[in-house]
Amino acid sequence: MDELLPCNNFNRKIIHLDMDAFYASVEIHDDPTIANKAVIIGQDPRQSNGHGVVATANYLARKYGVRSAMTTMQALRLVPAEKLVFIKPNFEKYRRVSDKIHQLMYEITDAIESVALDEAYMDVTTNKMGNFSALELATNLQKNIYRETGLTSSFGVSYNKYLAKMGSEYAKPFGRTVILPDDALEFIASQKIEKFPGIGVKMQEQLHELQIYTGADLQKQNIKFLLDRFNKAGYIIAQQAKGIDLRPVISKRPRKSLGLEHTFDVNIYDYDKLLTWLRNYSCELAQKLRTLNLQTRTVVIKLRTADFITITRRSALAVATTDAMTIYQHAKSSLEDEIDCVSGGVRLLGLSATDFEQKSYETLSLDLF
Ligand SMILES: [Mg+2]
Repeated sequence: MDELLPCNNFNRKIIHLDMDAFYASVEIHDDPTIANKAVIIGQDPRQSNGHGVVATANYLARKYGVRSAMTTMQALRLVPAEKLVFIKPNFEKYRRVSDKIHQLMYEITDAIESVALDEAYMDVTTNKMGNFSALELATNLQKNIYRETGLTSSFGVSYNKYLAKMGSEYAKPFGRTVILPDDALEFIASQKIEKFPGIGVKMQEQLHELQIYTGADLQKQNIKFLLDRFNKAGYIIAQQAKGIDLRPVISKRPRKSLGLEHTFDVNIYDYDKLLTWLRNYSCELAQKLRTLNLQTRTVVIKLRTADFITITRRSALAVATTDAMTIYQHAKSSLEDEIDCVSGGVRLLGLSATDFEQKSYETLSLDLF
Protein backbone atom coordinates (compact mmCIF):
# COMPACT_ATOMS: atom_id res chain seq x y z
CA MET A 1 0.00 0.00 0.00
CA ASP A 2 3.01 2.27 0.49
CA GLU A 3 3.11 2.90 -3.26
CA LEU A 4 0.22 5.29 -2.67
CA LEU A 5 2.60 7.57 -0.77
CA PRO A 6 5.22 9.89 -2.27
CA CYS A 7 8.92 9.16 -1.80
CA ASN A 8 10.30 10.57 1.40
CA ASN A 9 13.03 13.21 1.35
CA PHE A 10 15.56 13.03 4.20
CA ASN A 11 17.95 15.60 2.77
CA ARG A 12 16.49 18.77 4.23
CA LYS A 13 17.30 20.35 7.58
CA ILE A 14 14.34 22.21 9.06
CA ILE A 15 14.11 24.11 12.34
CA HIS A 16 10.78 25.01 13.92
CA LEU A 17 11.28 27.78 16.46
CA ASP A 18 8.54 28.65 18.93
CA MET A 19 8.79 31.25 21.68
CA ASP A 20 7.58 30.05 25.08
CA ALA A 21 4.33 31.75 26.21
CA PHE A 22 5.50 34.67 24.12
CA TYR A 23 3.20 37.60 24.98
CA ALA A 24 3.18 36.70 28.67
CA SER A 25 6.97 36.30 28.70
CA VAL A 26 7.46 39.72 27.10
CA GLU A 27 5.28 41.35 29.78
CA ILE A 28 7.02 39.49 32.62
CA HIS A 29 10.39 40.51 31.22
CA ASP A 30 9.25 44.14 31.28
CA ASP A 31 7.83 43.84 34.80
CA PRO A 32 9.64 41.17 36.85
CA THR A 33 7.39 41.84 39.86
CA ILE A 34 4.71 39.69 38.20
CA ALA A 35 7.09 36.77 37.59
CA ASN A 36 5.47 34.66 40.33
CA LYS A 37 1.93 35.40 39.25
CA ALA A 38 -0.42 33.62 36.89
CA VAL A 39 -0.12 36.09 34.00
CA ILE A 40 -2.91 36.15 31.46
CA ILE A 41 -2.70 38.29 28.36
CA GLY A 42 -6.25 39.44 27.82
CA GLN A 43 -8.58 42.13 29.13
CA ASP A 44 -9.63 41.80 32.75
CA PRO A 45 -13.27 40.62 32.42
CA ARG A 46 -14.17 42.63 35.55
CA GLN A 47 -13.34 45.76 33.58
CA SER A 48 -14.84 44.73 30.26
CA ASN A 49 -18.32 43.52 31.22
CA GLY A 50 -17.13 39.92 31.22
CA HIS A 51 -15.93 40.04 27.64
CA GLY A 52 -12.63 38.85 26.25
CA VAL A 53 -10.51 35.78 25.56
CA VAL A 54 -7.09 34.64 26.71
CA ALA A 55 -4.43 35.43 24.09
CA THR A 56 -1.60 33.78 26.03
CA ALA A 57 -1.12 32.49 29.55
CA ASN A 58 2.20 31.91 31.28
CA TYR A 59 3.10 28.45 32.54
CA LEU A 60 1.88 29.11 36.09
CA ALA A 61 -1.54 30.11 34.75
CA ARG A 62 -1.53 26.98 32.62
CA LYS A 63 -0.98 24.93 35.80
CA TYR A 64 -4.32 26.25 37.00
CA GLY A 65 -5.87 25.05 33.74
CA VAL A 66 -5.88 28.33 31.81
CA ARG A 67 -5.53 27.87 28.06
CA SER A 68 -5.25 30.18 25.05
CA ALA A 69 -8.62 31.07 23.48
CA MET A 70 -10.70 30.30 26.59
CA THR A 71 -12.75 33.23 27.87
CA THR A 72 -11.09 35.48 30.44
CA MET A 73 -14.22 34.85 32.56
CA GLN A 74 -13.35 31.13 32.76
CA ALA A 75 -9.74 32.01 33.57
CA LEU A 76 -10.93 34.28 36.38
CA ARG A 77 -12.71 31.34 38.00
CA LEU A 78 -9.71 29.01 37.70
CA VAL A 79 -6.99 31.10 39.34
CA PRO A 80 -6.95 32.33 42.98
CA ALA A 81 -7.41 36.11 42.97
CA GLU A 82 -4.12 36.89 44.74
CA LYS A 83 -2.19 35.02 42.06
CA LEU A 84 -3.98 36.43 39.04
CA VAL A 85 -2.78 39.22 36.74
CA PHE A 86 -4.58 40.26 33.56
CA ILE A 87 -2.63 42.35 31.05
CA LYS A 88 -4.16 43.97 28.00
CA PRO A 89 -2.27 42.78 24.91
CA ASN A 90 0.20 45.25 23.39
CA PHE A 91 0.78 43.86 19.92
CA GLU A 92 3.04 46.67 18.84
CA LYS A 93 5.42 45.76 21.63
CA TYR A 94 5.28 42.05 20.75
CA ARG A 95 5.95 42.89 17.10
CA ARG A 96 9.07 44.84 18.03
CA VAL A 97 10.43 41.87 19.97
CA SER A 98 9.41 39.57 17.14
CA ASP A 99 11.35 41.73 14.66
CA LYS A 100 14.45 41.40 16.81
CA ILE A 101 14.06 37.63 16.88
CA HIS A 102 13.54 37.55 13.11
CA GLN A 103 16.72 39.56 12.58
CA LEU A 104 18.61 36.86 14.46
CA MET A 105 16.99 34.20 12.28
CA TYR A 106 17.88 36.09 9.10
CA GLU A 107 21.54 35.96 10.18
CA ILE A 108 21.26 32.21 9.56
CA THR A 109 19.04 31.95 6.49
CA ASP A 110 16.55 33.86 4.34
CA ALA A 111 14.41 30.73 4.03
CA ILE A 112 12.12 31.66 6.90
CA GLU A 113 8.39 31.03 7.03
CA SER A 114 6.78 32.98 9.86
CA VAL A 115 3.64 31.35 11.17
CA ALA A 116 2.96 33.93 13.87
CA LEU A 117 4.86 36.60 15.77
CA ASP A 118 6.34 33.88 17.96
CA GLU A 119 6.72 30.96 15.60
CA ALA A 120 8.64 30.23 12.40
CA TYR A 121 10.06 27.50 10.22
CA MET A 122 13.60 27.83 8.89
CA ASP A 123 15.16 25.74 6.15
CA VAL A 124 18.87 25.55 7.00
CA THR A 125 19.81 22.83 4.49
CA THR A 126 22.05 25.52 3.03
CA ASN A 127 22.59 28.57 5.20
CA LYS A 128 24.74 31.65 5.74
CA MET A 129 26.71 30.29 8.68
CA GLY A 130 28.77 27.59 6.99
CA ASN A 131 29.59 24.23 8.46
CA PHE A 132 27.35 23.90 11.47
CA SER A 133 24.82 21.19 12.14
CA ALA A 134 21.17 22.22 12.28
CA LEU A 135 21.25 21.45 16.01
CA GLU A 136 24.22 23.79 16.53
CA LEU A 137 22.50 26.53 14.53
CA ALA A 138 19.27 26.16 16.48
CA THR A 139 21.04 26.00 19.85
CA ASN A 140 22.99 29.15 19.04
CA LEU A 141 19.84 30.89 17.90
CA GLN A 142 18.06 29.95 21.11
CA LYS A 143 20.98 31.34 23.16
CA ASN A 144 21.17 34.54 21.13
CA ILE A 145 17.43 35.13 21.41
CA TYR A 146 17.74 34.72 25.16
CA ARG A 147 20.68 37.11 25.33
CA GLU A 148 19.05 39.76 23.13
CA THR A 149 15.51 39.59 24.50
CA GLY A 150 15.70 37.74 27.82
CA LEU A 151 13.07 35.32 26.51
CA THR A 152 13.14 31.56 26.22
CA SER A 153 12.14 29.56 23.18
CA SER A 154 11.86 25.96 22.14
CA PHE A 155 12.91 24.36 18.89
CA GLY A 156 12.55 21.16 16.97
CA VAL A 157 15.00 20.06 14.31
CA SER A 158 14.16 17.46 11.72
CA TYR A 159 14.04 16.74 7.99
CA ASN A 160 10.55 18.16 7.49
CA LYS A 161 8.18 20.77 8.84
CA TYR A 162 5.66 18.75 10.78
CA LEU A 163 8.29 16.71 12.64
CA ALA A 164 10.21 19.90 13.45
CA LYS A 165 6.96 21.34 14.83
CA MET A 166 6.19 18.24 16.87
CA GLY A 167 9.75 18.46 18.14
CA SER A 168 9.44 22.03 19.35
CA GLU A 169 6.23 21.08 21.21
CA TYR A 170 7.80 17.96 22.67
CA ALA A 171 10.02 19.52 25.34
CA LYS A 172 8.53 22.95 26.02
CA PRO A 173 9.52 25.28 27.62
CA PHE A 174 13.18 25.92 26.73
CA GLY A 175 13.13 22.68 24.77
CA ARG A 176 15.57 21.26 22.27
CA THR A 177 14.46 18.26 20.27
CA VAL A 178 16.14 16.65 17.31
CA ILE A 179 14.33 13.99 15.33
CA LEU A 180 16.74 12.25 13.00
CA PRO A 181 15.48 10.24 10.00
CA ASP A 182 16.41 6.95 11.69
CA ASP A 183 14.42 7.82 14.81
CA ALA A 184 11.39 9.38 13.13
CA LEU A 185 9.09 6.33 12.92
CA GLU A 186 9.73 5.45 16.54
CA PHE A 187 9.10 9.04 17.66
CA ILE A 188 5.88 9.19 15.65
CA ALA A 189 4.72 5.86 17.09
CA SER A 190 5.16 7.19 20.64
CA GLN A 191 3.02 10.31 20.10
CA LYS A 192 -0.67 10.65 20.89
CA ILE A 193 -2.75 11.63 17.86
CA GLU A 194 -3.60 14.91 19.64
CA LYS A 195 0.00 15.93 18.99
CA PHE A 196 -0.21 15.62 15.20
CA PRO A 197 -0.58 19.01 13.52
CA GLY A 198 -2.70 17.46 10.75
CA ILE A 199 -5.39 16.16 13.11
CA GLY A 200 -8.09 18.55 14.29
CA VAL A 201 -10.46 18.05 17.20
CA LYS A 202 -13.21 16.49 15.08
CA MET A 203 -10.83 14.05 13.44
CA GLN A 204 -9.45 13.12 16.87
CA GLU A 205 -12.91 11.99 17.94
CA GLN A 206 -13.43 10.01 14.77
CA LEU A 207 -10.05 8.34 15.15
CA HIS A 208 -10.79 7.49 18.79
CA GLU A 209 -14.00 5.79 17.65
CA LEU A 210 -11.79 3.66 15.42
CA GLN A 211 -9.59 2.83 18.44
CA ILE A 212 -6.74 4.90 17.01
CA TYR A 213 -5.00 6.75 19.84
CA THR A 214 -1.31 6.96 18.98
CA GLY A 215 1.08 7.29 16.09
CA ALA A 216 1.71 3.55 16.42
CA ASP A 217 -2.01 2.89 15.90
CA LEU A 218 -1.93 5.15 12.84
CA GLN A 219 1.08 3.39 11.38
CA LYS A 220 -0.84 0.09 11.47
CA GLN A 221 -3.68 1.48 9.37
CA ASN A 222 -4.19 0.67 5.76
CA ILE A 223 -3.45 3.83 3.79
CA LYS A 224 -6.35 3.25 1.47
CA PHE A 225 -8.67 2.99 4.47
CA LEU A 226 -7.48 6.39 5.79
CA LEU A 227 -7.85 7.87 2.32
CA ASP A 228 -11.40 6.57 1.83
CA ARG A 229 -12.46 7.50 5.33
CA PHE A 230 -10.92 10.99 5.62
CA ASN A 231 -10.16 12.03 2.04
CA LYS A 232 -7.43 14.64 1.79
CA ALA A 233 -6.92 14.85 5.56
CA GLY A 234 -6.58 11.07 5.60
CA TYR A 235 -3.87 11.25 2.98
CA ILE A 236 -1.95 13.84 4.99
CA ILE A 237 -2.25 11.71 8.12
CA ALA A 238 -1.13 8.61 6.24
CA GLN A 239 1.97 10.49 5.16
CA GLN A 240 2.61 11.89 8.62
CA ALA A 241 2.35 8.39 10.13
CA LYS A 242 5.23 7.39 7.84
CA GLY A 243 7.23 10.53 8.58
CA ILE A 244 6.55 12.16 5.21
CA ASP A 245 5.92 15.89 4.73
CA LEU A 246 7.29 17.39 1.55
CA ARG A 247 5.92 20.91 2.02
CA PRO A 248 8.62 23.51 1.40
CA VAL A 249 9.46 26.33 3.79
CA ILE A 250 7.86 29.25 2.00
CA SER A 251 9.79 32.41 2.74
CA LYS A 252 8.14 35.75 2.39
CA ARG A 253 11.15 37.84 1.53
CA PRO A 254 11.35 41.07 3.44
CA ARG A 255 10.17 44.09 1.50
CA LYS A 256 12.85 45.43 -0.82
CA SER A 257 11.45 48.84 -1.63
CA LEU A 258 8.48 51.06 -0.98
CA GLY A 259 7.29 53.54 -3.59
CA LEU A 260 4.65 55.94 -4.83
CA GLU A 261 4.12 57.25 -8.33
CA HIS A 262 1.57 59.08 -10.38
CA THR A 263 0.95 59.46 -14.09
CA PHE A 264 -0.33 62.92 -14.95
CA ASP A 265 -3.28 63.52 -17.25
CA VAL A 266 -1.34 66.30 -18.91
CA ASN A 267 2.40 66.85 -19.01
CA ILE A 268 3.72 68.96 -16.15
CA TYR A 269 6.18 71.73 -16.98
CA ASP A 270 6.00 73.50 -13.64
CA TYR A 271 8.97 72.63 -11.42
CA ASP A 272 7.28 73.86 -8.22
CA LYS A 273 4.28 71.68 -8.91
CA LEU A 274 6.58 68.64 -9.10
CA LEU A 275 8.18 69.66 -5.81
CA THR A 276 4.75 69.70 -4.21
CA TRP A 277 4.19 66.14 -5.42
CA LEU A 278 7.57 65.11 -3.99
CA ARG A 279 6.78 66.75 -0.67
CA ASN A 280 3.51 64.83 -0.39
CA TYR A 281 5.17 61.58 -1.43
CA SER A 282 7.89 62.13 1.20
CA CYS A 283 5.35 62.55 3.99
CA GLU A 284 3.42 59.48 2.94
CA LEU A 285 6.58 57.37 2.55
CA ALA A 286 7.89 58.43 5.94
CA GLN A 287 4.59 57.41 7.49
CA LYS A 288 4.67 54.01 5.79
CA LEU A 289 8.26 53.40 6.85
CA ARG A 290 7.38 54.11 10.46
CA THR A 291 4.41 51.77 10.31
CA LEU A 292 6.61 48.99 8.95
CA ASN A 293 9.37 49.76 11.43
CA LEU A 294 11.83 50.33 8.58
CA GLN A 295 14.40 53.01 7.87
CA THR A 296 15.59 53.87 4.38
CA ARG A 297 19.14 54.45 3.21
CA THR A 298 18.41 55.27 -0.41
CA VAL A 299 15.82 57.53 -2.00
CA VAL A 300 14.98 57.06 -5.69
CA ILE A 301 13.05 59.40 -7.94
CA LYS A 302 11.54 58.25 -11.20
CA LEU A 303 10.63 60.56 -14.06
CA ARG A 304 8.96 59.81 -17.34
CA THR A 305 9.34 62.55 -19.91
CA ALA A 306 6.83 63.77 -22.46
CA ASP A 307 8.56 61.61 -25.08
CA PHE A 308 8.30 58.54 -22.81
CA ILE A 309 11.88 58.28 -21.66
CA THR A 310 12.09 56.94 -18.11
CA ILE A 311 14.81 58.20 -15.82
CA THR A 312 15.62 57.01 -12.31
CA ARG A 313 18.00 58.79 -10.01
CA ARG A 314 19.20 57.36 -6.70
CA SER A 315 20.42 59.32 -3.74
CA ALA A 316 22.20 57.57 -0.86
CA LEU A 317 21.61 58.84 2.64
CA ALA A 318 24.42 59.22 5.16
CA VAL A 319 22.30 57.63 7.86
CA ALA A 320 19.13 55.57 7.62
CA THR A 321 16.01 57.57 8.29
CA THR A 322 12.23 57.73 8.48
CA ASP A 323 12.29 61.52 8.38
CA ALA A 324 10.04 63.08 5.72
CA MET A 325 12.14 66.24 5.41
CA THR A 326 15.39 64.31 4.83
CA ILE A 327 13.69 62.15 2.22
CA TYR A 328 12.25 65.22 0.53
CA GLN A 329 15.58 67.07 0.42
CA HIS A 330 17.28 64.13 -1.29
CA ALA A 331 14.39 63.77 -3.74
CA LYS A 332 14.49 67.50 -4.47
CA SER A 333 18.20 67.58 -5.22
CA SER A 334 17.77 64.56 -7.52
CA LEU A 335 15.02 66.41 -9.36
CA GLU A 336 17.26 69.49 -9.67
CA ASP A 337 19.85 67.30 -11.40
CA GLU A 338 17.23 66.43 -14.01
CA ILE A 339 15.97 69.97 -14.53
CA ASP A 340 16.56 69.75 -18.29
CA CYS A 341 14.11 66.86 -18.54
CA VAL A 342 11.52 68.74 -16.54
CA SER A 343 11.54 71.65 -18.96
CA GLY A 344 10.51 69.25 -21.74
CA GLY A 345 7.45 68.14 -19.74
CA VAL A 346 6.96 65.36 -17.18
CA ARG A 347 4.46 62.58 -17.73
CA LEU A 348 5.07 60.57 -14.56
CA LEU A 349 6.75 61.27 -11.25
CA GLY A 350 7.58 58.66 -8.63
CA LEU A 351 9.45 58.46 -5.36
CA SER A 352 10.60 55.31 -3.61
CA ALA A 353 12.67 54.32 -0.63
CA THR A 354 14.97 51.30 -0.63
CA ASP A 355 17.99 49.76 1.19
CA PHE A 356 16.04 49.25 4.37
CA GLU A 357 17.20 48.78 7.87
CA GLN A 358 14.96 47.37 10.52
CA LYS A 359 14.65 50.07 13.13
CA SER A 360 15.48 47.73 15.99
CA TYR A 361 18.45 46.40 14.06
CA GLU A 362 20.90 49.05 15.19
CA THR A 363 20.55 47.94 18.80
CA LEU A 364 21.69 44.41 18.03
CA SER A 365 25.23 43.29 18.55
CA LEU A 366 26.58 41.20 15.70
CA ASP A 367 28.74 38.78 17.65
CA LEU A 368 27.07 35.90 15.84
CA PHE A 369 29.83 36.27 13.30
MG1 LIG B 1 4.59 30.00 21.10
